[in-house]
Amino acid sequence: MRSHAQVVVIGGGVVGASVLYHLTKAGWKNVLLIERAELTSGSTWHAAGGMHTVNGDPNVAKLQQYTIKLYEEIERISGQSCGVHITGGIMLAGTRERLDWLKMAKARGRYLGMDLEIISVDEAAKLFPLMDKKHFTGARYDPIEGHVDPYGVTHAYAKSAQIAGAEIVRRTRVTDLKPRADGTWDVITDHGNVHAEHVVNAGGLWAREIGRMVGLELPILAMEHQYLITADLPELAGQKEALHAIDFEGEIYLRQERGGMLMGTYERAGVPWSPVATPWDFGQDLLPNDLERIAPSLEVGFEHFPAIGAAGIRKVVNGPFTFAPDGNPLVGPIRGLRNFWVACGVMAGFSQGGGVGLALSQWMVEGDPGADIWGMDVARYGDWTTLAYTNAKVRENYSRRFRIRFPNEELPAARPLRTTPIYEKLQAEHAVFGDYCGLEHPLWFAPSAAEAHDEVSFRRSNAHRHVAAECRAVQHDVGLLEISNYGKFEIRGAGSAGWLSRVMANKLPAVGRIALTPMLNERGKLIGDFTMCRIAEDHFFLVGTYAAERYYLRWFERHAPDASVSIRPCAMQYVGLSIAGPKSRALLQRLVREDLGNAAFPFLSFRPMEVGMVPALVGRVSFTGELGYELWVTTDYQRLLFDTLMQAGREHGIRCFGGRALNAMRIEKSFGSWAREFRPIYGPFEAGLGRFVDFEKGEFVGRAAALEERASGGRLRLLTFTVDATDADALGDEPIWHDGKVVGWVTSGAYGHRTGASIALGYVPKELATTAAGFEIELIGERRGAMPHASAPYDPRGALMRG
Ligand SMILES: Cc1cc2nc3c(=O)[nH]c(=O)nc-3n(C[C@H](O)[C@H](O)[C@H](O)COP(=O)(O)OP(=O)(O)OC[C@H]3O[C@@H](n4cnc5c(N)ncnc54)[C@H](O)[C@@H]3O)c2cc1C
Repeated sequence: MRSHAQVVVIGGGVVGASVLYHLTKAGWKNVLLIERAELTSGSTWHAAGGMHTVNGDPNVAKLQQYTIKLYEEIERISGQSCGVHITGGIMLAGTRERLDWLKMAKARGRYLGMDLEIISVDEAAKLFPLMDKKHFTGARYDPIEGHVDPYGVTHAYAKSAQIAGAEIVRRTRVTDLKPRADGTWDVITDHGNVHAEHVVNAGGLWAREIGRMVGLELPILAMEHQYLITADLPELAGQKEALHAIDFEGEIYLRQERGGMLMGTYERAGVPWSPVATPWDFGQDLLPNDLERIAPSLEVGFEHFPAIGAAGIRKVVNGPFTFAPDGNPLVGPIRGLRNFWVACGVMAGFSQGGGVGLALSQWMVEGDPGADIWGMDVARYGDWTTLAYTNAKVRENYSRRFRIRFPNEELPAARPLRTTPIYEKLQAEHAVFGDYCGLEHPLWFAPSAAEAHDEVSFRRSNAHRHVAAECRAVQHDVGLLEISNYGKFEIRGAGSAGWLSRVMANKLPAVGRIALTPMLNERGKLIGDFTMCRIAEDHFFLVGTYAAERYYLRWFERHAPDASVSIRPCAMQYVGLSIAGPKSRALLQRLVREDLGNAAFPFLSFRPMEVGMVPALVGRVSFTGELGYELWVTTDYQRLLFDTLMQAGREHGIRCFGGRALNAMRIEKSFGSWAREFRPIYGPFEAGLGRFVDFEKGEFVGRAAALEERASGGRLRLLTFTVDATDADALGDEPIWHDGKVVGWVTSGAYGHRTGASIALGYVPKELATTAAGFEIELIGERRGAMPHASAPYDPRGALMRG
């Protein structure tokens, strides 16, 4: 084993092998993979090898497409067969909701270039004769589905990497990792040590334990997973290989395995494996079968596919593999650990392994993953992912693998985990809560406790009229919204202004003022949007997306400030309330000594004030489009602030409103939001944020690329549409059609209660960014007319919020 390497990849499963291959492809030569036993010795060797392109996150779906296409390349380079069988696949629906879901997924696939088809039960039965038609209502067909040989794929990656100069050391276990002051690592193994510039944790079943070597508790958990292989079926003899099939009602997947069928299930009563620590002596072992546990799914399966039930079971496989709480991989660098990278929690290694390897290698070699991988960025999780939280969420995710998640459905596991001081007060107002980063936050308010629940649906739900009432209150009187679920940072010190000016694209606000600012990467793409408030010359308060707190901190550290700047994340030290509506000024004026008149405290002002007895930071901003204020207080004051505002607001008709109303109102104002309209695939001019980029102030990160985008106009434009919808509004990811072709995609949508219209935001090529007719948006399988707006549908000149 070499004593020095540019990178040590720990783990020779399909993911580690893919990372190794991609690093060599990106040009790194001195790369070393260390494997505890033989290649594939974790969860890889007994996988069913199934692969598909579909994923809830379109950006992850693109990486899955990439993975499947890659097999040809690594077979060619290595001479090792991957055992690729592209059979095509069908997803079978047994209910109207499931068929709606399939239609929506098919529509999403359109702008990703996927060739998915909704077919009738009769057509499905022709393609997959083993099914009993009476249990189904329709199906979706995907020609690009199939399976591979897990051993072949892993070895094809490994051999391709070796041909390019990589070294693979087997039967060697990494036992410890020690950082050096210069950011490099001593990799300690049971067969000697290696000095590495970078370390990649691709430890699969042991990734959590490798994390612990460096003080990291990764939110991953292994679950036991079983599939069975039947004896040969006469029905398959002499036939073309059977399609892959997913039966949602039975929660099972099926594919042909030689002359029999392989049938697996994600049972509801899933069982974690080694929930606290994975034993190092677990080898190419299987776990004892427990058919009892999966019996309910098997029974449905045998009924829906009678020939399988009649065939008899030849073999049962029970093996563990790992999941993150949301089922997506954990990829990327870790904040606070220099040159330490993770590629783990990959639950679909044969669909995702290639994409994970590509993204991570580009990140390591070029400093950027090269694609929008927010959905699998390890930074999406924060401190709240304790071992028990991860356990509850992973079990929930596993049990729901084949269940529909409705757009208005909030999942119950591990809740309530985190609550703000006014939680009970909001409960008393009949709040329906959502979970965001483990924090309970109000979505909407019902008139009574009995009505305080969501009826889940793809269409407008029971909440619709209550959200309408909230929007009316904000439009005509005043509404109160809890805004604690934002990320906050306090930036202080003599160097703070200089540093912020370099990291953010807009010019800094004057003391007592607020500026909205995008944050760009070197490629000039959007990696954040902040409300930047200046308390003093060298004291700033930044508000941004809470889910991205670690993502931001990692970026801040990369553009490391010196000792003259201190950055303090303070999301839960400052909680907040916002009041919005034409009567919000009169309400607040009763409680503060300062003059809130437009001249003294205009739009985008920011100042510490005493609100009754409560010391608060008060900003005049508006995400609803109405006159409004945000009030930030330390956690101990939030209850009193709530009571103070509610009491003073009574005479103004105050009522609480929630995240759903806020979302509808910001969409009516064409205001974008992080992870929807603002993502690292868009530039500021494409996203309509060009006016918040200040080229006059001198150098800042992404300036050169943003200048280029300004000159060229970029590729895309964010448009706001009024959609000719009836009972279902756009949600996000629906295709946008123009003159009979799919040209773009929706990023957000909602019913705008103030404008009385269904509204969607979405990107189209800039050449098509006109206000002419000819657009359609596909809602649950139906193309609906969509009219683009030249400006925001509600109060386009912003007179209300500035008034
Ligand atoms: C029953 C079953 C069926 C499945 N079916 C499918 C399917 O149909 N399609 C699909 O895409 N996925 C399937 N999977 C999931 C798939 O197996 C995983 O996504 C994939 O194997 C993850 O690969 P990995 O490289 O991340 O982890 P692993 O395969 O666990 O690899 C990690 C490697 O790291 C090594 N290692 C760990 N710690 C150290 C250390 N300290 N020093 C040196 N080496 C170390 C281990 O020995 C191991 O070889 C299935 C899994 C199971 C269990």
